[in-house]
Amino acid sequence: MSEWQAVSGLKIAIDGPSGSGKGTVAKLLAEEIGLPVLDTGLLYRLTGAVALERGVDLDDEAALASMAGEMLTGLSWTCDGISYEGEPWTPRLRTEAVGAAASTVAAKPLVRQALLSLQQQLAEAGCIMDGRDIGTVVLPDAPAKFFLTASVRERARRRWSQLKQMGHADDIDAVIMDLKKRDQRDRERQHAPLAQATDAISIDSTTLRVDEVVDRMLGILERRELIKASV
Ligand code: C5P
Repeated sequence: MSEWQAVSGLKIAIDGPSGSGKGTVAKLLAEEIGLPVLDTGLLYRLTGAVALERGVDLDDEAALASMAGEMLTGLSWTCDGISYEGEPWTPRLRTEAVGAAASTVAAKPLVRQALLSLQQQLAEAGCIMDGRDIGTVVLPDAPAKFFLTASVRERARRRWSQLKQMGHADDIDAVIMDLKKRDQRDRERQHAPLAQATDAISIDSTTLRVDEVVDRMLGILERRELIKASV
């Protein structure tokens, strides 16, 4: 059983750049407070991957948005990952090529629009949602928002060791370059860029362990009376 109990329907937004530790932190926090985690990056990754598979031009906004809209009917997105047309897609969405395609399609306003209400509907029952625009666009009224950061070098190191574990060998300089490109695209896009919400709490995880980040979050949630210790 979780050590903490969250108030009913609690929504927690966690935003930050690639490799800032959002996913790992969100999972550990979820175990502590008993809420599901929804990783919104999977939606953009699936859109990018399906577009690559079907040969849809990654610059054709209208075609991508209509494909994303149609995808919604065959989609199952939960804390366990994402399935599409009855098949689990999560493992094959973790490659660098799919990450780059995701960041390209995610810069298109019509694609973001097509995926917005699904995210809002699924968050309604309460969840920890991680992404880039959760605190600013998807859940602007979330009572707890965190913005996770870390130095580029540390984020690249984490990403590189993840890729190595999955057997996708890459050299760290290539990972740094890719990360910088992705950061720039995510921060500079016109629509829903990666940005800290004015009411988000920023945590720099460069020198913190995951459990230390989670402890800080638990302290803040407890002080705000959004969670209480389970009896
Ligand atoms: O978080 P992850 O690396 O899986 O996200 C893949 C890409 O999807 C990001 O680089 C970003 O461009 C996009 N994304 C986004 N908004 C979100 C989540 C992800 O634009 N809420």
